[in-house]
Amino acid sequence: MLHKNIGINKEGRLTFAGMDVVSLAEKYGTPLMLLDEDRIRENIRVYKKAMTENFGEGCFPLFASKALCFKGVYRIAKEEGIGMDAVSVGELYTAEAAGFDLKKAYFHGNNKTDADIAFGVEHGVGTFVVDNADELLALDKHLEKVGKKQRILLRISPGIDPHTFQAVVTGSVDSKFGTPIATGQAEEITRLALSLKNVELVGFHCHVGSQIFDHEPFVDAADIMLRFIAYIRAQTGFTAKELNLGGGLGVRYVESHPHIDYAEVIGEMAAVIKARAAEIGIELPKMVLEPGRSLVADAGMTLYTVGSVKTITGYKNYVSIDGGMPDNPRFALYQSPYTVYNASRAAEEADFPCSVVGRCCESGDIIQENVVIPRPQRGDTVAVAVTGAYNYSMASNYNRIPRPLILLISGGKEKVAVRRETNEDMIANEV
Ligand SMILES: *Cc1c(COP(=O)(O)O)cnc(C)c1O
Repeated sequence: MLHKNIGINKEGRLTFAGMDVVSLAEKYGTPLMLLDEDRIRENIRVYKKAMTENFGEGCFPLFASKALCFKGVYRIAKEEGIGMDAVSVGELYTAEAAGFDLKKAYFHGNNKTDADIAFGVEHGVGTFVVDNADELLALDKHLEKVGKKQRILLRISPGIDPHTFQAVVTGSVDSKFGTPIATGQAEEITRLALSLKNVELVGFHCHVGSQIFDHEPFVDAADIMLRFIAYIRAQTGFTAKELNLGGGLGVRYVESHPHIDYAEVIGEMAAVIKARAAEIGIELPKMVLEPGRSLVADAGMTLYTVGSVKTITGYKNYVSIDGGMPDNPRFALYQSPYTVYNASRAAEEADFPCSVVGRCCESGDIIQENVVIPRPQRGDTVAVAVTGAYNYSMASNYNRIPRPLILLISGGKEKVAVRRETNEDMIANEV
């Protein structure tokens, strides 16, 4: 199976986190988002252990909120003792509402508004990751006004192509994110930060991209960042105490993707990074990683009910489901691969090639093309695996379709973590 939390029971139905998904679909309705809480905790523990062992005590991952945002996920992060990063007041607000201490929050974003800055400072966000000089000056000005100090990192673009898909490459020089080293602007913004009295610069951040399957892009980025740290030390006397390498470790969405052992990748990453730091002659700063996808993606599965099944004679088969781009826009956005199961007939022969499509008035409303599953009938449950990241957080109400319900599954028991959105919810703000 694709992941160890997916199986087939003796009734020939698909199971997820040990539960019969067809029964869950019948009980809670579809579209239904399942989240394997035990899996999320396990993923977090793998990261935490590997980071402590390889980078030292006090090194822990920050959960990247953009991958999945609702109160329940921050309760888990809090209980597991990790941090989080956010790019909006909404994400910070949700974490705070869940009882998450924002001291452990990192506030990202290439365009923090004045209101965002004020909210972050007022709510005690531990670290601002400042993207550019404009923001730095606005933050300092606000801090001056309210008489506070703020711990900050500077987001630097190392100029790396992490050999990944263009839409998710963010660390290269020509990017809306961060301040590039190559143009000399990273040094300028560092000098500026050091000259301001209300911000406390502790180090640097970079994020090279997403869905990266090996340690190399991280090591390349770390190498550039460590050299930059050494250069800044030589020029200004400032020694960075923290280096945040961002997120981006990949996830196995389909059988052709490799299994990734995160502990092993972090171990390999750490070995090279430590050796480089020694070569360059600097003490290894406190290392931080910001995984999003790799903490939650394989903990998710989305269930749908099959509606019409049709064959366009001479072309192909279409299986229409009762969700689509409103709950999972990732194929429509960037042709993301997914594994699709006919959960009702999981043990039957997969002999029906088809496109699995949503219900929106949009021909791009596709969940996956060219899949081969056991021939579905109206009423069957279809499952799409590895939907824990960038599905619920990217969901919309396009075509006025309510967002799905989220069920958290732990120890073979399920509980509703997010209620199904209703038609009333969707018109609640309309006057
Ligand atoms: C997107 C992003 C992450 C998380 O990336 P994943 O690929 O989900 O691990 C972390 N940090 C920053 C700054 C990001 O933009």
